[in-house]
Amino acid sequence: MIEIPHLEWHISHSCNLSCESCIHFTNHNHSEVVSIEKLKEWYSLWNKKVSPKRMILLGGEPFLNKNIIDIVYLTKEMWTQPKESNYWITTNGLLLENYPDLPKALRDTKCMLQISIHGDESKKEYYKRIKKVFSLIEDWEKKYNIKFVECNTDEEFQKLQPTEDETYVIYRDMVSDWTRAYDGFGINSAPFEDNNIKQSWDNCVAGQKCFQLYEGKIYKCCMTAYLNLQKNKYGNVLSKKWDPYLKYKPLESNCSDEDIINFFKKEEEPVCGMCPSNPQMFSKKDPTLPVSFYEKNNKLKYSY
Ligand code: SF4
Ligand code: SF4
Repeated sequence: MIEIPHLEWHISHSCNLSCESCIHFTNHNHSEVVSIEKLKEWYSLWNKKVSPKRMILLGGEPFLNKNIIDIVYLTKEMWTQPKESNYWITTNGLLLENYPDLPKALRDTKCMLQISIHGDESKKEYYKRIKKVFSLIEDWEKKYNIKFVECNTDEEFQKLQPTEDETYVIYRDMVSDWTRAYDGFGINSAPFEDNNIKQSWDNCVAGQKCFQLYEGKIYKCCMTAYLNLQKNKYGNVLSKKWDPYLKYKPLESNCSDEDIINFFKKEEEPVCGMCPSNPQMFSKKDPTLPVSFYEKNNKLKYSY
């Protein structure tokens, strides 16, 4: 068994928000949720080969997958993790009230919940909804042994360790340092063409350790994995500029131990050429805007 730093995977490719330039491309109205059968198959391909120090269920919005409680238990059961590792779910939080059994499942499996905050008071519709989520978690704090804390870096998050009878719900600011990973939207989206692979890697928009399990294979990051969702949806009308990056070869489950070790050691690769070398911070629009807004206003060069 090879210890690896990180592994995450979508349990839903669909999202109920439309954050501009989402690095998982799940602001594009993809509709699929990943079935338990498919997850079991993916897990079986890898769970005797690698042991992730950090394991994350996410999406899209993972709570759009109605089987999420069973998936939380199944994942804990099927994967071995090294000591002092973490297991968590990343969510926008807006559907949590539909899952009354979640606090128990989190405690039973020592799973933490990270709620990403995608807008401030100026985004009125969004803010009203996220305030309700905060009230719900404050209620969980009183009823269950759950600690609700702000945490904005992976290092801070990494230090949190749930115990037998308590766990953490964390909220994380995804407004102040939001960056653009690609230009435009949908058929008018395009990769960056900065021609500086090393600098794109050094300033990686996904934080460098973002390995994804997708369709039974392991990808370097969310951009390399979910660009495939874009190709599946838009086919030949997707800009040809994405073609070289769609040729990226993920790690296959029939690989050797040496292949695994080398894969997780790799730094910059040609595929990093699709990402900006100097990511720009920007203030994203209200994440509750309909996807049709971006479909209508999808000129290149960031001109919404
Ligand atoms: S909440 Fe926003 S950033 Fe998160 S997956 Fe959905 S669209 Fe992407
Ligand atoms: S392609 Fe490279 S630079 Fe871009 S997100 Fe993935 S790892 Fe980071």
